[in-house]
Amino acid sequence: MPFSLAPLPYADTALDPVVSSRTISFHHGLHHKTYVDNLNKLVENDPLGAMSLVDVVRAVAGKADKVAHFNNAGQVFNHDFYWSSLKPNGGGDPAGALKAQIDSDLGGIAKFKTDFAAAAVGQFGSGWAWLVWKTQEKKLAIEKTANADTPIARGDAPLLTIDVWEHAYYLDHQNRRAAYVQAVIDKLLNWDWAAEQFAKAKG
Ligand code: MN
Repeated sequence: MPFSLAPLPYADTALDPVVSSRTISFHHGLHHKTYVDNLNKLVENDPLGAMSLVDVVRAVAGKADKVAHFNNAGQVFNHDFYWSSLKPNGGGDPAGALKAQIDSDLGGIAKFKTDFAAAAVGQFGSGWAWLVWKTQEKKLAIEKTANADTPIARGDAPLLTIDVWEHAYYLDHQNRRAAYVQAVIDKLLNWDWAAEQFAKAKG
């Protein structure tokens, strides 16, 4: 099988109580795994199966006969990225070059947190909120995407994401998406991961 379910970068209890082990057992063990299994079935005996996950997403984006490929490959990428965007005892503020760029492009860290939360809460239905490096414009932006859509489809470089599909928060927060989003920003965001992605993206 060309694609595999990446193990969590921490114990399944590490994000409790914002994201409980019960949520993780469904979200990583079933939802995320199903996207991987579906993608593997779709690329069986297909040249796409020899490509990297990011290249698959870019190759099938916008193709009417490859919607299932896009949805499953996009969701595998997005979920891998989501688990890395979180860490136990996360939150706080970024430092160094990333902080300076947020100050310059997004009006400071406090404004970023407010606007990032608003994007996550304001995404209608299922989807994702992102901090992204826009590779053409060479600046940071906050974006939201629906369903399996992902900034890598447009060649941009994500730094952080929050999953706002109901399966990400319903067991722990019921319908209170705003409470989940705020707790993720305050307690779980992995700014070390974001800084690494920023350094790679800026080159
Ligand atoms: Mn999800």
